[in-house]
Amino acid sequence: MPTITPTEWPFFEPRHRLFAKDFRSWVAAHLGHFESDEGGDGQAAREIFRLLAADGWLGPTVAPDPGGPDQRMDLRRVCLMREILAYSSAMADVAFSEPWLAALPIALYGSQEQKRKHIEPYSRAEFLPAFALSEPEAGSDAAAIAATATPSGAGFVLNGRKTWISNSGLADLYVVFVRLAGEEGAQGLSAFLVAGANSGVTLEKRLRVLPPHTLGTLRFDDCFVEATALLGRPVQGFEIAMRALELFRPTVGAACLGFARRAMDEALQRSCERTTFRKPIAQHQLIQEKLADMAVKTDAAALLVYRAAWAHDRGSPSIGREASIAKLYASEIAQEVVDQALQIFGGLGVVEGTTVERLYRHVRAFRIFDGTSEIQKLVIAKHLLKG
Ligand SMILES: Cc1cc2nc3c(=O)[nH]c(=O)nc-3n(C[C@H](O)[C@H](O)[C@H](O)COP(=O)(O)OP(=O)(O)OC[C@H]3O[C@@H](n4cnc5c(N)ncnc54)[C@H](O)[C@@H]3O)c2cc1C
Repeated sequence: MPTITPTEWPFFEPRHRLFAKDFRSWVAAHLGHFESDEGGDGQAAREIFRLLAADGWLGPTVAPDPGGPDQRMDLRRVCLMREILAYSSAMADVAFSEPWLAALPIALYGSQEQKRKHIEPYSRAEFLPAFALSEPEAGSDAAAIAATATPSGAGFVLNGRKTWISNSGLADLYVVFVRLAGEEGAQGLSAFLVAGANSGVTLEKRLRVLPPHTLGTLRFDDCFVEATALLGRPVQGFEIAMRALELFRPTVGAACLGFARRAMDEALQRSCERTTFRKPIAQHQLIQEKLADMAVKTDAAALLVYRAAWAHDRGSPSIGREASIAKLYASEIAQEVVDQALQIFGGLGVVEGTTVERLYRHVRAFRIFDGTSEIQKLVIAKHLLKG
């Protein structure tokens, strides 16, 4: 059974303990064979998504928590899910998390009709949603989005390109952030729900990347959507995107924790088994120093991740500062912990397909998406300077 963050910590409630126990057993029984990252065309990820839905794990991630304040979802539960999934398989984590990021804006800002039409089928994995914010010239600077929505008849016509979009070409629904014609800056953005089958949407290019993400660039050419496709108010798009990313950040940190804990466990086991100079390498002090550093950083990251999720769940109106601190620290230290684990494995660490080699490839992108480390630092400083 894998190690995860101890759910006896005060950030958790008894229901989280039960959930973590059940979900860990379920992952071990159902997802063990997805540990390798084969099937990067998205089919394996879709299968994992279906399995999660079939056993009821998706629904509670987009529903109000009966034990929480003001209709909020239980973010600690989602963090535990991602930590457990990432420990087991990066692909399983991606299969769950990317559609969840896309479902989040609908769960938070959708009308009753949009929720009925999209959230319930999402919970049953009847369709796959994708989050389409980034553009070739608008990554960190989302306010620079150039794709447009122009009012036309009973709806809007969308034009432009979106890139780095997870599940591009596979998704049944895109949550697309575009500029309302004539509007400028961050406050001029709108969010629309666009069917993948819409003839105005095409997959321009598939992007092959280090981690098991199915990424691509999408084109929107005179893509007509009904007025009912608008999510929230006409110029609420930036707020919607930023709120979804704010809630996503602690969960990204949680996935990084899963990678770090797996790397630690692999390194501990290897350092007890491998002998050099007539003793297990675990008995060399320089190896012990690495193990100690890894443990300190991993526990510190866990405290920051679950503090952010707990702050959300207890009703904080904004967790911007806590979420960025958690995402920044967890993604940075996960990279260091995985690197140290690989070092402990020596030459074996770089053999293709070994667990530490996979972790080394998988962890890197986490310092880039959902706001790069540099952007997280700017957000944290903005909160500090606000006072
Ligand atoms: C695996 C993966 C999956 C992704 N999935 C999605 C998805 O599903 N949907 C989606 O919309 N996007 C997705 N993205 C896109 C991701 O969010 C962007 O890559 C990210 O926001 C960075 O944008 P960029 O790549 O354009 O880099 P840029 O914005 O061009 O940044 C380049 C460098 O400059 C730095 N930089 C930029 N501005 C500043 C500043 N003001 N001060 C200091 N440094 C700065 C950045 O930190 C970075 O190091 C994904 C990306 C990856 C790698």
